[in-house]
Amino acid sequence: MPAGEERDVTATGGDEAAIAQQRRLVTEIPGPRSRALEERRRTTVAAGVSSTLPVYVERASGAVLVDVDGNSLIDLGAGIAVLSVGHAAGEVVERVRAQAARFTHTCFMVTPYEGYVEVCEELAALTPGSHEKRSALFNSGAEAVENAVKIARHVTRRQAVVVFDHAYHGRTNLTMALTAKNMPYKDRFGPFAPEVYRVPMSYPFRDPAGMTGAEAAARAIDTVEAQVGAGNVACVLVEPIQGEGGFVVPAPGFLPALSRWCAEHGALFVADEIQTGFARTGDWFACDHEEVVPDLVTTAKALAGGLPLAAVTGRAEVMDGVHPGGIGGTYGGNPVACAAALGSIVTMRALDLPAAARRIGSVIGERLTKLAASSAAVGDVRGRGAMQAVELVRPGTGDPDAAAAKRVAAACHAAGVVVLTCGTFGNVVRLLPPLVIDEALLGDGLDVLASAVEALTA
Ligand SMILES: *Cc1c(COP(=O)(O)O)cnc(C)c1O
Repeated sequence: MPAGEERDVTATGGDEAAIAQQRRLVTEIPGPRSRALEERRRTTVAAGVSSTLPVYVERASGAVLVDVDGNSLIDLGAGIAVLSVGHAAGEVVERVRAQAARFTHTCFMVTPYEGYVEVCEELAALTPGSHEKRSALFNSGAEAVENAVKIARHVTRRQAVVVFDHAYHGRTNLTMALTAKNMPYKDRFGPFAPEVYRVPMSYPFRDPAGMTGAEAAARAIDTVEAQVGAGNVACVLVEPIQGEGGFVVPAPGFLPALSRWCAEHGALFVADEIQTGFARTGDWFACDHEEVVPDLVTTAKALAGGLPLAAVTGRAEVMDGVHPGGIGGTYGGNPVACAAALGSIVTMRALDLPAAARRIGSVIGERLTKLAASSAAVGDVRGRGAMQAVELVRPGTGDPDAAAAKRVAAACHAAGVVVLTCGTFGNVVRLLPPLVIDEALLGDGLDVLASAVEALTA
C-alpha cells in the first residue's frame, strides 16, 4: 500500500465482504452440484487424496464457506488451522492482489526482494524469546520440519532425532518417520528415514492418574538416555500441543523439563508450532504459555492466511551455522505468499487475535464441559484457546470410540458445520474456528455439535 494511505484492518474484505456470517442450507449436504463434481473428480483426481466433506466451495468469507449449491456452512476447521484471520481477510486479499500484479516469483536464491526479509523480521519479533534470531522460508510444514532437522543435525554434528507418541510432523519421507500414526500416513510407504526415536508423550487423559509433567518428562528422558544416549541427540522435536495426534495438551512442566534437558545435553529443543502457532492457543505461540524458549520453531499453517508458506526460526548462531546454499528451494518464501503473511500478521495484531482466541476458548470450553457432564460418551474435553476438542469413549470406559467421532462429524457436516476429527485412535472431534468468528455463529455451530454428541447416548 502506498505510504501515507490509511486503510482500516477489518476481519473480512475483498470481494466477499458481503457473505452473511450465517449458516443457511438450501439443499441436502452435499448438494447436487457438489455430488456431480465429486463424480467428475473420481475420473482424474488420485484416490489417495481424499476430502473430509466433499462439498465444493465456491467462495468464503470470515467463518463461512459458500458451496456450489448455494449452501452457507460454518467453518470450524479453518482449512486445518490455516484461516485464523478468516477467509478473504481484507489485508490478505489486497496485498496478494497487489503483489501478484508486481511480480509473482524471482526465486529468493537468485534475486531477493523485501517481502521475504519483512516476514523474517516479523518471525523474529513474534516467536518466543528475545534472543537474536534468523529464519528461512519454505513452502509447507513438512518442508520446514525437514529443514529444522537438517539444521539441527548439521550444527550439532549428531544424528538422533527424538519424537513422541501421537506426533504428527508431515507426510514426506523424513516427516513420515517422525509421525507416529500408521494409518493413513505411513502404511506401506516405507522404508522410513533412520535415526528417529519415539518416546512417550505426556497425555494426561491416558497417563496414570496424577502423573505430572515433570514425571512424564522423566519417563521420556529415561527412555532417551537408555536407548539413544544423550550425546547422540541432535534435537528433541515436539508439538507443544499435539494437533493430528488428538489435541493432546501435555501436563504443566513437561515442556520446560524437556527444554532444560536439551540445554544441559547439547541437544536442540525444536518446537513444531505449525498447528499451534500464530494466536491459535491464546498466545502468539503455544510455547509462550509456559515461557519455554525453543532453539528452533517451525511454523506454517496460519502464517500466511491460506497461501503456502512455512518457516524455520531459531537462534542466530544455530541458523547461521549452515553454509550458504545449504538450505533453500525454488519457491520457498514466494513473494505472493510473503505478502499474504504480512497481511495476515497485520490483521492478527490489529484485531488482537490472541485475545480473540482466549475468548473463543472460554466459550467453547464452557459449552464442551457442560456436554461432558451430561454425556457419558465424552471422556475428555481439552485444549487451549481456540484449539479445543472432545475425546469420545464407550460410555462407562476409557475405550476410544472412533465410530462415535465419525457419527458426530457426519451429523455436523449434514447440518452444515465443518468439524474435523483427529487422534491416534480416531476418536477426537476437534474445533479450530477462524479467530474472527462471531459469537452467534460459533454458538450455532456448538449447538449443532452438542446435539450430535447427545444423540450418541440418547
Ligand atoms: C500440518 C502439520 C505439519 C505438516 O504441514 P504441511 O504443510 O501439511 O506439510 C507438520 N506439523 C504439524 C504440527 C502440523 O499440524
